[in-house]
Amino acid sequence: MFSKLHYLSRLYEWFFPRTCILCHYPSKAAEDLCEPCFLSLPILHESCIQCAKNLPHTSLTDLVCGKCQHSPPPFDRTYALFTYQSPITKLIMELKFHERLVNAKVLGDLLAKTIQHQWYTHQTLPEIILPIPLHNKRLKKRGFNQALEIARPIGKRLHIPIDTQGCLRTKHTEAQAQLALKKRTHNIKNAFYIRGDYTNRHVAILDDVTTTGHTISEFSKALKKAGARRIDVWCCAKTLLN
Ligand SMILES: [Zn+2]
Ligand SMILES: [Zn+2]
Repeated sequence: MFSKLHYLSRLYEWFFPRTCILCHYPSKAAEDLCEPCFLSLPILHESCIQCAKNLPHTSLTDLVCGKCQHSPPPFDRTYALFTYQSPITKLIMELKFHERLVNAKVLGDLLAKTIQHQWYTHQTLPEIILPIPLHNKRLKKRGFNQALEIARPIGKRLHIPIDTQGCLRTKHTEAQAQLALKKRTHNIKNAFYIRGDYTNRHVAILDDVTTTGHTISEFSKALKKAGARRIDVWCCAKTLLN
């Protein structure tokens, strides 16, 4: 049965090749991203295991940056796949502002594979995925939550349920990226309301791009208050500056 299905899907791919989301040529891979474009993506290598801050010029693993050592953030681990540079910037912008949902699928698939084959080969996977919630106003304007769209293929591939009901964003905030560093903490304070019970749970927060981590910190604080035992952060990309 499997081989017949496999054969049919190969046949389908032959007749209807997928188109690469970056170069727009037919992709020979079973994804909407061709191999040369995949190889051009800016993978984040050495980084702090807790906040994913880039730590270049080191070959050591399991490093914690000075900032996290001095004042540990309320989340336990951060796994970021890419640095927020071209062409990842383009993929995220197109997704958020031009509703290119296929980009979320490709990014989610790449994250899922990395989670499965690199990040969690020696540890237990989280029990649920929590895409960072958007405020209702923004959700209505955009029509979808990009973090949820990226989470879908991950949940499907790893068989982890996605929780979209237990947490709400109750404060409509200005986009963090447009604010000065000092204002970000104040802007996001008490922005989340947790109505679910996360007692003793190991959760994964999913975000598209992490900059200073203020949003994730505030969300994590609320989740820890609601009982979460361990919080891992999964994000597509981390900015290099912070
Ligand atoms: Zn391509
Ligand atoms: Zn750190």
